[in-house]
Amino acid sequence: MKVAKFGGSSLADSKQFIKVKNIVESDPLRLFIVPSAPGKRNPEDKKVTDMLIECHNMAKKGEDISKLFNKISERFIEIAEDLSIGIEPLLKELKIVEKNIQSDASLAYSASRGEYLNAILLSKHLGFPFVDAKDIIRFNQDGSLSQSETQNLIQEKLLPLKKGVIPGFYGFDDNGNCHVFSRGGSDVTGALIARGVNADIYENWTDVCGFRTADPRIVPDSKFIQQMTYRELRELSYMGASVLHEDAVFPVRNAGIPTQVRNTNDPLHPGTLINYTPQYAGQAPLITGIAGKRVSAPS
Ligand code: ADP
Ligand code: ASP
Ligand code: MG
Repeated sequence: MKVAKFGGSSLADSKQFIKVKNIVESDPLRLFIVPSAPGKRNPEDKKVTDMLIECHNMAKKGEDISKLFNKISERFIEIAEDLSIGIEPLLKELKIVEKNIQSDASLAYSASRGEYLNAILLSKHLGFPFVDAKDIIRFNQDGSLSQSETQNLIQEKLLPLKKGVIPGFYGFDDNGNCHVFSRGGSDVTGALIARGVNADIYENWTDVCGFRTADPRIVPDSKFIQQMTYRELRELSYMGASVLHEDAVFPVRNAGIPTQVRNTNDPLHPGTLINYTPQYAGQAPLITGIAGKRVSAPS
């Protein structure tokens, strides 16, 4: 069985939702799906998560969020309408989220609602059950992840369903408070689900055909890396390659589950396969890739 996580640009609008459905349906082993919030549709666009955080900051200052929140609502309503998903339940959810953010909901709760709403839409589009991360991703009250509880909850509540859509990025603690991973954290949720259901592979679907030897925004003609080890990945991501969240490595690596980074816009490309041990048929390349950190990262 496969766990497939789809990033924000992979689910930025209804056209992307259609691609995701084709990918999921092209392999009956893709059973547990982890979506991010809608990302940018073009370089000038705003990520839904960024707008939610902005709403939270405005509400904290006592400002009216309705104008900005309408922009968020429009993103989801457009997807639902294009895909003929009934919008009444969505409108109700949007109202609740807006009211909660306006009345001082926490930053984590506010930031997490993009994943929550997108997962509801994707579950309807795929015809898969929606499983709220609230019920299976367990945080401690100090904001750290409770790994053992999360593992148990996934096995108890998710596995018996045989398939499902689980929002990335957030979980709850025992007191009912929401917590999020750091930015890009849907990758971490995907890895935790892959470990919890003991997947054969963790697929991470994004907007590039896997890792390249350098960030393509800086070195446009850098080469794709077909395979690498978790150790090589750790070295690359610590040094600044932002394709995968660095905390998405440990759950799958320790469980012996490979990660495959693939492109939603080019689903036939095999992407980059990350394994515990080197899988090279011939001689391994001496240098896997080059990563670097800017003082301010490109967005
Ligand atoms: P998602 O929204 O799907 O999680 P991310 O934006 O988090 O996607 O990660 C994919 C992006 O990572 C690519 O669009 C690319 O610009 C950037 N990137 C940085 N370093 C690399 C690299 N070495 N190889 C490929 N992509 C890279
Ligand atoms: N939506 C969140 C973010 O923008 C989490 C993610 O995309 O993985 O950081
Ligand atoms: Mg990401």
